[in-house]
Amino acid sequence: MLKIEVAKKELYQKKITGLLGLVLLGMLTASACATSLTTSPAKSEATRAINENAQQTTCQAVSPNQFYRHVLDQYREQHLLCKLKGLVKDGSSQSTTVVLRALEARFAGRQPSEHFVLVANPKSLETSILPADCVADCVEFKPEDHSATLPYARALTAGEKFSGAQHEENSHSEVYLTADLCPSKKELDREFFSKLDAGTLHATPIALSVAGGWLRHHQSELEEIKKLAREGHFRITWINHSYSHPYNKDLPLEHNFLLESGINLSHEVFDNERLMIFNGLLPSVFFRFPGLVSDSADALKLKTWGLIPVSADAWLAKGQKIKVGSIILVHANGNEPLGLNLLYKNLEEWPALRSLFGDLNDAFTF
Ligand SMILES: [Zn+2]
Repeated sequence: MLKIEVAKKELYQKKITGLLGLVLLGMLTASACATSLTTSPAKSEATRAINENAQQTTCQAVSPNQFYRHVLDQYREQHLLCKLKGLVKDGSSQSTTVVLRALEARFAGRQPSEHFVLVANPKSLETSILPADCVADCVEFKPEDHSATLPYARALTAGEKFSGAQHEENSHSEVYLTADLCPSKKELDREFFSKLDAGTLHATPIALSVAGGWLRHHQSELEEIKKLAREGHFRITWINHSYSHPYNKDLPLEHNFLLESGINLSHEVFDNERLMIFNGLLPSVFFRFPGLVSDSADALKLKTWGLIPVSADAWLAKGQKIKVGSIILVHANGNEPLGLNLLYKNLEEWPALRSLFGDLNDAFTF
């Protein structure tokens, strides 16, 4: 079923290639947006009134929990720079947004199906899911055209350039903790969360890279993590870590992980995003290549899909040291206790380290 949806998406992608953003917009939100593009001055006035009204009353971000256990009818990639018709989340004054995906969901007892967009704030990189009619006046989003002004565009361009290499652009004073949840038969490492928990008054920022192969077999553990976030112990950025996270111990690195022959990167990326949303998680703009192994062709595809590859320069179990500005990599799936022990040792020996943890989005807003 998932593969069929991807095939549909690819068909759609071919169909839209080369079309103007305004046409894309019409396909995305046929009603309000198309009206604003084609109407007479009198109707434009009416549209403006609707938009102003929308600014005050609508366009709240939708909690990803709303999609929990709901299969999405449609899930399509988009690359649009749009105006926001309303305020987002905390009422920030963000006026433009990048539409990454169009979602169509059918909720029990509610007809017809409802349209949403997964969007990224081009300044803060923060993602959210909005009703589709919250965006208007879209044009095609080309990162190259905006890399001087929009941090998200800059990070996408750098992502292609560095292709999973070390995070060389980082000149920040924070440290970014990422923990991978690759497929594992072992239990979630709960000590990781208890050691990092600073209480509900100070949510610890962490980024969790989650693979579909972990999600599908650790449902109750996932709910434990979500509860910790809900209660304010952690502020979690969810990173897509691929759907199946392939690995073959007998293959050389250059043909291993997602570079193994026969791997469909689009399935690995989009079906895992769908699975994340199905589990009530909000996908971020980040993707972590399994094994940190990738090539330039895959990195370029990620950029096309609006995703930034997140590498690490402090994979603790590999002997790399934490520095200010580092992206730390440990595993919280029970597979790599060495890395976690080194993290705890660092926390003991470097008391200020805990206060340096920052949101991963910050690492890429250079
Ligand atoms: Zn992994």
